[in-house]
Amino acid sequence: MTTFVDFRSVRQSVPIGRVLDHYEIRLRRVGGEILRGSCPLPTHTSEKSKYSFTVNVVLNVWACHSVSCMSVRGGKAGGDVLDLVALMEDCSVREAASKLREWFPIIPARIGANLPVVHPDEDTCTKGDKEQGTDLLANKPLPSVLSPIDQTHPYFRKRGLTLETIETFGVGYFQGAGVMAGRIVIPIHNERGELVAYAGRSIDGREPRYRLPAGFRRSLELFNLNRVTAQEVIVVEGFFDCMKVWQSLNPFVVALMGCAMSHRQEELLVRRFKRVTLLLDGDEPGRRAAERIASRLVRHLFVRIIELPFGKQPDQFSSEDLRVLLL
Ligand SMILES: [Zn+2]
Repeated sequence: MTTFVDFRSVRQSVPIGRVLDHYEIRLRRVGGEILRGSCPLPTHTSEKSKYSFTVNVVLNVWACHSVSCMSVRGGKAGGDVLDLVALMEDCSVREAASKLREWFPIIPARIGANLPVVHPDEDTCTKGDKEQGTDLLANKPLPSVLSPIDQTHPYFRKRGLTLETIETFGVGYFQGAGVMAGRIVIPIHNERGELVAYAGRSIDGREPRYRLPAGFRRSLELFNLNRVTAQEVIVVEGFFDCMKVWQSLNPFVVALMGCAMSHRQEELLVRRFKRVTLLLDGDEPGRRAAERIASRLVRHLFVRIIELPFGKQPDQFSSEDLRVLLL
């Protein structure tokens, strides 16, 4: 019998919901992917922290922010399924992995059954956080910016971007070394305006067309949200759509960075805006996405869909045409 335990596969393939069921831990759903309730850990002694236990079923992580509970656990706010079982069983993480393999047959293809993308991040829960639950839902700010970048690269002219747009969005052709070398780099900020990632657009046909850093969760951000101050907003799919719409004197625009709207993105839109205009690509996925997104948003705010001619996307229009389209 092998004693080797593949931690990673156990971590990723056992949905935390099944571990909660195993222990008959009942939590309440408080947002799309967030469950909350009383902390079931043996380290929890506080009578006051009633709803301190939070689970993110998509990220497959948990946290309890009770100060006393955390201090017994070495100051850690939370962890993954292995940490949870290790605490519940008072055993090592290795033993926890063996137990999980015993309890649940592991089928790697069914990561987080029915759930969208799962990106377990080793660091997600290892740090304390004053604000309850926020460490389950955050991309970490980057410590530095990419440089040198060339903001006069001919690619921008080809895409119809003006220098003002290029400078406002901080995009440029990256001249340094590394995975973003030779790509157009696009800074992505969180809601508070902190730089959390760069998207790297290939300009010589190299795949992937867009490169995003490992561990970055696109579903947690809306591109350009930090610059939007109005109560109404235009929602597009891509970075260049967003920059082109911004340039057409419609500064209040955000990009989903894809054609799906995550629960977190929905929450951001509902919280910040009263009126949303959906301007997705004029293709089958774009049109279907617009319908689906509208049906979710319409419960909370005013939604308008602008349908583009088939085969067209916003960044292919001139500023004048976009102004007319968005009137
Ligand atoms: Zn606790």
